[in-house]
Amino acid sequence: MTPLLEVDGLKKHFPIRKGFFSRASGSVYAVDGVSFSIGRGETLGLVGESGCGKSTVGRTVLRLLEPTQGTIKVAGQDITQLDSQDLLPYRRRLQMIYQDPYASLNPRMTAGEIVGEPLLVHDLGAPEERKERVAALFERVGLRPEAVNAYPHEFSGGQRQRIGIARALSLKPELIVGDEPVSALDVSIQAQIINLLMDLQDEFKLSYLFVAHDLAVVEHISHRVAVMYLGRIVEMTDKRSLFEMPLHPYSEALLSAVPIPKSSARGRKRVILTGDVPSPINPPSGCHFHTRCPYAMPRCKTEVPALREVIPGHLASCHLHDGGVRSPLAAAS
Ligand code: SF4
Repeated sequence: MTPLLEVDGLKKHFPIRKGFFSRASGSVYAVDGVSFSIGRGETLGLVGESGCGKSTVGRTVLRLLEPTQGTIKVAGQDITQLDSQDLLPYRRRLQMIYQDPYASLNPRMTAGEIVGEPLLVHDLGAPEERKERVAALFERVGLRPEAVNAYPHEFSGGQRQRIGIARALSLKPELIVGDEPVSALDVSIQAQIINLLMDLQDEFKLSYLFVAHDLAVVEHISHRVAVMYLGRIVEMTDKRSLFEMPLHPYSEALLSAVPIPKSSARGRKRVILTGDVPSPINPPSGCHFHTRCPYAMPRCKTEVPALREVIPGHLASCHLHDGGVRSPLAAAS
C-alpha cells in the first residue's frame, strides 16, 4: 500500500547573507538528506535536541518552507514543485499543530472564528454549516460550546492547544504535523492532549508526524521513531525496538536520560553527552556525532556512516555495526 507521506533525500539549507550586497557567505545545513515514510493511521515520532532540524523537517514537508533538495510525496503524488494554486488541495490534507498555542492563535479573533477560519479561507460550506462544524469540533476536542465567543487569552494553555487541534481538524486532514505540541504544557495536561490526539487518530485514521525533544512523550504516542542529529536521521525503527535496543550511541544517550519508570531504558548505564550540539553552519566531518561520541573511532572523522538496515526494520547510521549488530554500550566495555 502506498504510504500517505514519502520523503526522500530532503534537504533544507538556509543561506547566510553578509555585507552590503547580501552575498551568500555560507549555509545553515538545517536538514541534510532525510528520508522516511508515514502510513495511514501511523505516527512517526521525530526526536532530537534543540537545533537538530526536526521542526524544519515538519515545516518543509508541509511546504511552509521550500525544500533545497529532495522529494515529498502525498499518497504517491509528488508535491515538491507544485505552485501555490496546485498545492491548495494538499494544504487541506496536511495540517499543523504548533508548540505555542498562544503565539499561534490570533488574539483579536474569538476561538470560534479561529477554528472556522480555514473553512472560510477554503470557501467550504454556508455560514450556518460552518457554525455547526465549529460547534461539533469544539465538542469533539473537549471545549465548552459557549467558548466559541471567548478570546485566546481567556483560555488555559491546554485549552488553547485544544483550539489549535480543532482548527487543524476543521478541514478533515489526513496528516497532521505536531511541532512539539505538548512541550509548553504541564505534564498532567500533556497526557490529556496526547490522549486526545490518539483518540482522534483512531476516529479519523489520522497520520501524525510528531516532532518532540522528549522521548517519554514520543514513546507514548508513536508507532515508529526517527532520531535526528544535526540535520540527519541517525536511527529509525518501531518504538519498541528503539527503547529495548538502541543501535546508535546518540539514541542510547537520549534514552539513558529518560526518567520515566515504565521505560525499558531504565537500569541502563547512564551515558552523559558532553558538549553542545555543534553548529549546523559548520557541522563536523564524517559522522556528525563524532565530536561527542564516547565510541568514536578514527574513521568516524572522515567517513559518513550510511543509514542502513542493521536488523530487519531497524535502521541506524553508525560504523560500530559494520561487522554486524553491536550494542553501543557493549562496544565500550
Ligand atoms: Fe560514534 Fe563513530 Fe558510530 Fe558516529 S559512526 S556514532 S562517531 S561510533
